[in-house]
Amino acid sequence: MSINTVGVVGAGTMGNGIAQACAVSGINVVMVDINQAAVDKGLATIEKSLDRLLQKEKITEADKAAALARVKGSTRYEDFQGADLVIEAATENRELKTKILKQLDELLAPEVIVATNTSSISITALAAATGRADRFVGMHFFNPVPMMALVEIIRGLQTSDATHDAVKALAETLGKSPITVKNAPGFVVNRILVPMINEAFFVLAEGLATPEDIDAGMRLGCNHPIGPLALADMIGLDVCLAVMEVYLDEFGDSKYRPCHLLREYVAAGRLGRKTGMGVYSYAK
Ligand code: NAD
Repeated sequence: MSINTVGVVGAGTMGNGIAQACAVSGINVVMVDINQAAVDKGLATIEKSLDRLLQKEKITEADKAAALARVKGSTRYEDFQGADLVIEAATENRELKTKILKQLDELLAPEVIVATNTSSISITALAAATGRADRFVGMHFFNPVPMMALVEIIRGLQTSDATHDAVKALAETLGKSPITVKNAPGFVVNRILVPMINEAFFVLAEGLATPEDIDAGMRLGCNHPIGPLALADMIGLDVCLAVMEVYLDEFGDSKYRPCHLLREYVAAGRLGRKTGMGVYSYAK
């Protein structure tokens, strides 16, 4: 099955990134958000991002114009009519996503594939909210979407081979390198990444090294582009803590217990870059 038109639910960070990646690859996109202001913000972000690519001579003026012409912004799900695939990239909230998926299920033709970009909600559980569990799949893009090569393709319990193959082919058309993953909390990358960050907090709490040396160790010894503590500050310490709590709850294994120092920082409101203070200080 070839995918020529993609619907995107949500024009936020991930939604507009996914829309841009599709548009520059020659795919028509309909991007829907709840109000015109959100749609306009998403469209403006795409234009700014294309301008940066233009400045770096990665695309031409004509490429930019063609990509923009392929993206239609809307506030109506009815405009998904004619899409071969709809990717849900709305706010991370289980009730909200369930509601959106039920709406899509009623509107879309039976053969249309529905994907979700959720970071943490079970693909199998979301699929169950639709009448098309075999045509439902996870497509977990990474931020910023236009730059990051990876897409995790997550198979729910009932995702069909045809659905998996179609979205894998789409990811490749977008110039991405997809990996296939079975449904489980954190999928693959976050399952490994966030416990590593949590372990860095244990190392810090035990006073084994300074934050700077822990980060330097992982950068220089493992070739990571950024140390785990600096990365935690970027992601948000509250997000890291919430993810560890989900793993602890869902796997029931104490190896996922959040580090007490991570809890302390979150309790103190030291959430990372977004609050100006996390492991490091970002005060101007
Ligand atoms: P965001 O807050 O930037 O954007 C979410 C958008 O969804 C908002 O514009 C909001 O108005 C819109 N929205 C809310 N309800 C809607 C509805 N009923 N219909 C249409 N649009 C609606 O969030 P984000 O960071 O883009 O995250 C979106 C999804 O992608 C989440 O599931 C998140 O877990 C996942 N994700 C995020 C990242 C990341 O780094 N930000 C990475 C991978 C996956």
